[in-house]
Amino acid sequence: MKLIFCGGAQEVGASCYLVTIDGKNILLDCGIRLTSSKDTLPDFRLIQENGGIDAIIISHAHTDHTGALPAISRQFPNALIYMTHMSKDLTRVLLYDSLKIMEREPEIPIYAENHVQEMLGRTVCFSPNFSFKLFSDSNITATFYSAGHIAGAASIYMVGSEGSLFYSGDISGFRQNTIEGATVPKLRPDVAIFESTYGDKLHANRQVEEQRLIESINEVIINGGKVLVPAFALGRAQEVILILKKAMNRGQLLSCPIYVDGMVKDICRIYKLNPNYLRSNLAKKVFRGVDIFYDDNVSPVANPEFRKEILESKNPCVIIASSGMLTGGPSQMYAQSLATNENNLIAVTGYQDEESPGKDLLKIIETDDDADKKQDRTIKLGEREISVKCRVGKFGLSAHADKMEILNIANNLYPRRIFLVHGNPEAINSLGKEIQKDINGFIYAPRNGEQYEINIKKPRKQRGISKYPNMKRNEPLTQESIKELWEFVKDNLGTETALSAEELMEIWGYEQDTLEVKEILNNSPYFEPNPRRMFLYHAVKESEIEKLSELK
Ligand SMILES: [Zn+2]
Ligand SMILES: [Zn+2]
Repeated sequence: MKLIFCGGAQEVGASCYLVTIDGKNILLDCGIRLTSSKDTLPDFRLIQENGGIDAIIISHAHTDHTGALPAISRQFPNALIYMTHMSKDLTRVLLYDSLKIMEREPEIPIYAENHVQEMLGRTVCFSPNFSFKLFSDSNITATFYSAGHIAGAASIYMVGSEGSLFYSGDISGFRQNTIEGATVPKLRPDVAIFESTYGDKLHANRQVEEQRLIESINEVIINGGKVLVPAFALGRAQEVILILKKAMNRGQLLSCPIYVDGMVKDICRIYKLNPNYLRSNLAKKVFRGVDIFYDDNVSPVANPEFRKEILESKNPCVIIASSGMLTGGPSQMYAQSLATNENNLIAVTGYQDEESPGKDLLKIIETDDDADKKQDRTIKLGEREISVKCRVGKFGLSAHADKMEILNIANNLYPRRIFLVHGNPEAINSLGKEIQKDINGFIYAPRNGEQYEINIKKPRKQRGISKYPNMKRNEPLTQESIKELWEFVKDNLGTETALSAEELMEIWGYEQDTLEVKEILNNSPYFEPNPRRMFLYHAVKESEIEKLSELK
């Protein structure tokens, strides 16, 4: 096995790792850097020098993991791309948004619309927990495991005859408002690649941080001010919407309009299209046709005129808008206006890159706390220099594992070789020392451009993939025939076995579009999604079915 770090080592951005196993080259993620002063792309020359790519596997849709996909995919059009269904829908939205942004920039775009379309055409989707073969002429298998973090995010587990590899992607173990935490079983990887974003930190208590955010907003509303929450369009913004919505419904947050603006709106739409990747309470609402984000208090900002109206209005409100680091998008425009009034609050909730305006805002709070430093409250927002008069708050709503969580994952999997990526050098070094105390193995802090040849003398024995009995039906599953599938599963596997739509189709014995099958399963009384992993299904107990028919 060989590992080549083309990007995303000692940094957050341009995640791109080439793995050579059993004679095949497999690329894990292909993102861009968000910092403008650095080269946006991973090192593609390394990929070319090592013989190109045979397949690409994507952990999740964030642009630091997908932004360079159209660029690399056009170079290697024969390589299929694998990701979860949710990730594909989200990636499409994010890449089209990048196209729009690139059109406005003076630089030459790194890809065009047809490259995005062709790339999506080469993409194959699988649900988490389903093991699939990557190639027809090799026995290498891959499996996605739900990684928490954002909807559709997955860790990747690859097994070949030379050994096995676990790549965490971006991961978080705790339950969020939109999604459940990671569900990674006790796998036996020889090699692991872990993210280290918060590898040197312990998280603040989530409920306490949410409460602090709500209290800060209440203070602003009482004083007639406005609150801006700049949030990453994908993940954080949906979390913030649900936190505020819940607090308002419980009477903890004072009543005021909550506006949602920017790409956030498109992402909310995609979340609703893939209920099986959300928490069960949200998924059930979607099944019933209830909107999970918007209601009487929460509404999208439909057009630029409405934006002006919001800013000119004297009434207090909360605005949740992308981008998350105030580098562009409506959040930057709102900030330019709201920052100049001391009654307002800008609430920073996520990771801020060193060179971003969001980071400059945070530096203002630091100098406020430090009486010795002189107060320079001017920051650059887009083309404008703004003297910041409003309050600035920082709230820890991270969607990444902290030091403890990564240590727990490492202990659970106990790989003999661990590579730490996706973090700044301090976080990686500190985490490496901690893991070294627990695990008797080799811990690496690779740099971009480095290559590691790994000879695994005795690959760890893998648990066999369960082979299920086959009904050999050779016809599409329908709402009419699903009762037969239910009877078969209930009699042969019981009602406790959690199965993906793909596994159920293998049992049925027909190749059918997974989304179509999910639609049938979601609307059938005979199967129900697992409450903690809505992408897996159980056969419903016979007694429950009888109760249902009695009710009718
Ligand atoms: Zn991410
Ligand atoms: Zn990331």
